[in-house]
Amino acid sequence: MTDTSSTTAPAPTTMTSVETHLAEILDTIRPLPATRLGLAEAEGLVLAEDVVATNPLPSFDNSAMDGYAVHAEDIAAASEHAPVTLPVVGEIAAGDTGAYALQQGTAIRIMTGAMLPHGTELVIPVEWTDGAISGRHSARVAIRVKAEPGHAIRLAGGDAKAGELLVARGTRLKPMHIAAIASAGHGSVIVRPRPRVVVMSTGNELAEPGAPIVPGRIWDSNSFMIAAAAREAGCLAYRQAGVEDNADEVLQTIEDQLVRADLLITTGGVSMGGEHDVVKSALQQLGSMTFRKVAMQPGMPQGFGTIGEDSIPIITLPGNPVSAYVSFQVFVRPAIGALQGDSALRLPAVRAELTGPVRSPAGRRSYLRAVLDGDKVTPLTGQGSHQIATLGRANALITVPEWVVQMPAGETADVIVLP
Ligand code: AMP
Ligand code: MG
Repeated sequence: MTDTSSTTAPAPTTMTSVETHLAEILDTIRPLPATRLGLAEAEGLVLAEDVVATNPLPSFDNSAMDGYAVHAEDIAAASEHAPVTLPVVGEIAAGDTGAYALQQGTAIRIMTGAMLPHGTELVIPVEWTDGAISGRHSARVAIRVKAEPGHAIRLAGGDAKAGELLVARGTRLKPMHIAAIASAGHGSVIVRPRPRVVVMSTGNELAEPGAPIVPGRIWDSNSFMIAAAAREAGCLAYRQAGVEDNADEVLQTIEDQLVRADLLITTGGVSMGGEHDVVKSALQQLGSMTFRKVAMQPGMPQGFGTIGEDSIPIITLPGNPVSAYVSFQVFVRPAIGALQGDSALRLPAVRAELTGPVRSPAGRRSYLRAVLDGDKVTPLTGQGSHQIATLGRANALITVPEWVVQMPAGETADVIVLP
């Protein structure tokens, strides 16, 4: 495809790049101490040990089907026209721990997963016998089909050898991993715990959704949105909503919340409004914080640092809801991954063809709300950072690089797929 996008040299800027800002945030974060948790609690957490098969999987030879354990020689002549009939001398169900032996010239009825009797060379599925028709125990079975030794047998270690790696350290545990760990008999695993995230929204204008408001006030969406986003990213999230624009109150609330936080996220109060931007003015006295402009849109004013005796990481997001949302996905999500020792908690990125043109300010990376449908992406109208309705319709963000100011329809763009 021809490159028809307009580019400019990056504008001379005092802004920090998205990459630098993210890298510096990640530098402040140490993974949470690993802990042993029961398997039922482990889903979605990151494994902090290699899990191996302590025993072979399966641990004993067993039948892959409901059928008859036989010797190969005894059924070698079996055919549709001339079935071989053998006496059925026993029956073994799954879970039967008895030690049985298969004598030459006999068959033993056996169920899927049951331990093979000693001497079994193969299992004839019940469907290949007259046993299927009666469905009942009978003293004799007529076998209509022959098979090779090993047929319908699961050998010990055929799935995994003893000592074999089943799930590697660093894996975020999904149901299939849980299955592999459980099947190897491990009742608990060492994982990084679910990060506890405290989400604080600040602003004198904020009211709780559900309560009436007067003109001049707005309902707080950020604290719900960011708490939901943190949960989606695998955290326990606590909301501390509507903290007043007052430096003492902001500092006091942060201090109160530290006991239950592995990460603090604030929204609002970090732009250029001087004393009105109380998060910034209160925190920047502490010395452990960095406030800056990041070369992105939305989301330019950003801050981060550590706080309290335990150096709990804190990320201060801008108040405009779309800015807060985009900043969460770009900076906070990877930070949550870092708390879990997982560098892969990034959102999937794809390339898709623009169905309409996009514009972007020189020197800043744009994140534009869009609808991704297959290999086509449609930028939405209403890209203001307060336009939450547009956010509610989006399933993707088009990223426009810092050096590109416009891209026409038909061009291929980078797209972040939203969770
Ligand atoms: P600020 O960054 O505090 O200057 O806020 C920027 C804009 O975002 C203002 O229009 C605020 O009213 C709005 N805003 C701040 N916090 C929230 C919130 N929690 N929910 C919705 N909008 C907010
Ligand atoms: Mg504010």
